[in-house]
Order: sequence, then C-alpha cells, then structure tokens
Amino acid sequence: MANCIFCKIIAGEVPCQQVYSDDLVVAFYDIHPVAPIHILVVPRAHIASVNELLPEDEPLVGRLFSAARQIAWEQGIQDSGYRLIVNTGPHARQSVYHMHLHLIGGQPMGFSMG
Ligand code: 5GP
Ligand code: ZN
Repeated sequence: MANCIFCKIIAGEVPCQQVYSDDLVVAFYDIHPVAPIHILVVPRAHIASVNELLPEDEPLVGRLFSAARQIAWEQGIQDSGYRLIVNTGPHARQSVYHMHLHLIGGQPMGFSMG
C-alpha cells in the first residue's frame, strides 16, 4: 500500500529495529516507546484496521497473538506481564492505519484500561 509507513518498513524501504519475522508477521520496536519494552506486532499484509478483517484472516489473527507470546518470552516479560493493545479508529487514537498489536511491558502500567 503506497504511503503506508508500516508497508514501507516491511518492504525494507524504511529502517526499523526488527525483533521477529515469519511468513505472515513482522515485529519491531516502536519509534516512540511508552514503556521500556514497546514492540509493534504487524501483519505483512496491509489490513487498515480491525474493521477491515475478513473471516479468512482468522489464522493471521492467531499468528499475531502467537508471535506476541513468543516475543514476550524472548523479552523475559512473560511473568511480569504486558499489555497487548489494538487501537481501532479515531476514538482509540489509531494513528497508523495498518493494523498492529502494541506489546507493552517492562514496568508496571500507570493506570487500568478496559
Ligand atoms: P497507533 O497510534 O496507530 O495505535 O500506533 C502507531 C504506532 O506506530 C505509534 O506508537 C508510533 O510511535 C509508531 N510509529 C509511527 N511511525 C513509526 C515508524 O516509522 N517506525 C516505528 N518503529 N514506529 C512508528
Ligand atoms: Zn500498510
């Protein structure tokens, strides 16, 4: 997708600090971290948001969570805990319209959500 920053990162046109890659998913550090560990888990396919998910994307959604789980273990935060956040649309302040999981941890969270 032209002019999508995450598509450019996935294509190697924009640099990133990658921590995970497979046939469906890549993950890299967020450029503006809100916690000591802040990683974005991103489908290779351009899906704008959760609103655009199709029934055939169910294996991809499962893979996003499996990748997040593996990364959490590799980062050593599986027991201390972490948040997985998927912002969708304006009220959630989604800023990049290429769906992604925020994996956030490494310190206690400041407030409860949900
Ligand atoms: P959203 O607000 O859409 O849920 O999250 C988008 C995230 O992408 C933000 O946390 C923002 O810091 C991150 N981001 C935006 N542009 C870039 C970039 O060029 N590289 C990286 N690594 N992260 C980015
Ligand atoms: Zn994209």
